[in-house]
Amino acid sequence: MDFALSDEHQAFRRVVRSFAESEIAPHAARWDDEHHFPLDVVRAMGDLGLFGIPFPEEFGGGGADFLMFCIAVEEIARVDASLAITLEAAVGLGANPIHHFGTAEQKGRWLPDLLAGRALAAFALTEPDSGSDAGATRTKAVRDGDEWVIDGTKAFITNSGTAMTSLITVTARTPDGGISTIVVESGTPGLVIEPAYRKMAWRASDTHGVRFERCRVPRGNLLGEQGRGLHQFLSILDDGRIAIGAMSVGIASACLDHAVAYATHRSAFGRPIGANQGLAFQLADLQVAVEAARLLTYRAAWLRDQGRPFKQAAAQAKLFASETAVDAGRVATQVFGGAGVMEASPVARFYRDAKILEIGEGTSEIQRLVIARGLGLPV
Ligand SMILES: Cc1cc2nc3c(=O)[nH]c(=O)nc-3n(C[C@H](O)[C@H](O)[C@H](O)COP(=O)(O)OP(=O)(O)OC[C@H]3O[C@@H](n4cnc5c(N)ncnc54)[C@H](O)[C@@H]3O)c2cc1C
Repeated sequence: MDFALSDEHQAFRRVVRSFAESEIAPHAARWDDEHHFPLDVVRAMGDLGLFGIPFPEEFGGGGADFLMFCIAVEEIARVDASLAITLEAAVGLGANPIHHFGTAEQKGRWLPDLLAGRALAAFALTEPDSGSDAGATRTKAVRDGDEWVIDGTKAFITNSGTAMTSLITVTARTPDGGISTIVVESGTPGLVIEPAYRKMAWRASDTHGVRFERCRVPRGNLLGEQGRGLHQFLSILDDGRIAIGAMSVGIASACLDHAVAYATHRSAFGRPIGANQGLAFQLADLQVAVEAARLLTYRAAWLRDQGRPFKQAAAQAKLFASETAVDAGRVATQVFGGAGVMEASPVARFYRDAKILEIGEGTSEIQRLVIARGLGLPV
């Protein structure tokens, strides 16, 4: 058993950390405040190769493993959750379904721009009336000659309305009774992108409701086998949950670092506040939780990279890491006292940003359901 990251993983972490600290960190609070999606920086992340990391070189990918991608997501999340989710969703939900289920022709058509970070893809699964229960999808797609005609409404779709968005993969009920996955390119008549949501967190990320009104796309835009959409998105979400674990680890370690620095320098009653065991022990416990979250996340990525089953490991990582991130935000905000709740405080932003990690790509309750079912329980 070897817990050390390879030289390549460590070197790549240094590259991404340096980029994140110089190009993102100084501006993250302002982008959050202004709900601003920083297109130029997302393009620069593309130039760095972040959007292609775990995909084959044949399509312009980095040919690296999923663990490498998790390290990149963790490092971006250490400074800015909005850009981390932009990356996570573009890779995990955007390019991943095309890579997993697309034909050679579809991959050749769509992947090169996505992997180079010249374009972004979104995945539209959630609907106003079905999120956790995604099998209750109401959006419909019917065949008309050589086209699919799609009607329905999707909610909370990341990366769906940026100037770089080139396509949205949508899940829709097809006449076979199952759910199918169909690619809709940006600009297709009948594809309506609602105004961006005003969110409590991830405020510099791009999230919209999306409507399909008699939206026609070529028959060849069906991804994978018709009626297999449920199976497809469950496996896509397994990948995404590991990456959300990595985002959580990034946010949690940033909170820990900020809290330790503050506790060392801030004084009360004539000594650093970190000299009080009541506070120091909370930070000690937090460090243990962050390390445990990182190990669960890296293990899930490793299992995936080894081609071994990882559904349970992904759910465990996502559940524990996201709840650790929320705890870390709460503890760090407490350590900062009044300064912690000021908008300019980094920990206030991390605390808000951590909360969505317990919701997106399967809530904590849904992760517990997956884990309990893995135990054989009839839940
Ligand atoms: C910022 C943001 C970005 C997002 N990006 C995307 C995206 O790109 N694509 C996309 O398709 N979706 C996206 N989502 C949607 C997200 O995946 C859903 O919000 C999430 O899956 C929960 O669905 P819901 O909001 O409908 O909540 P519901 O399913 O209505 O759940 C409400 C509550 O009930 C609980 N609950 C539901 N069923 C059970 C059960 N069986 N047992 C116990 N508790 C249960 C849930 O855990 C939750 O606490 C995004 C969401 C947000 C907030």
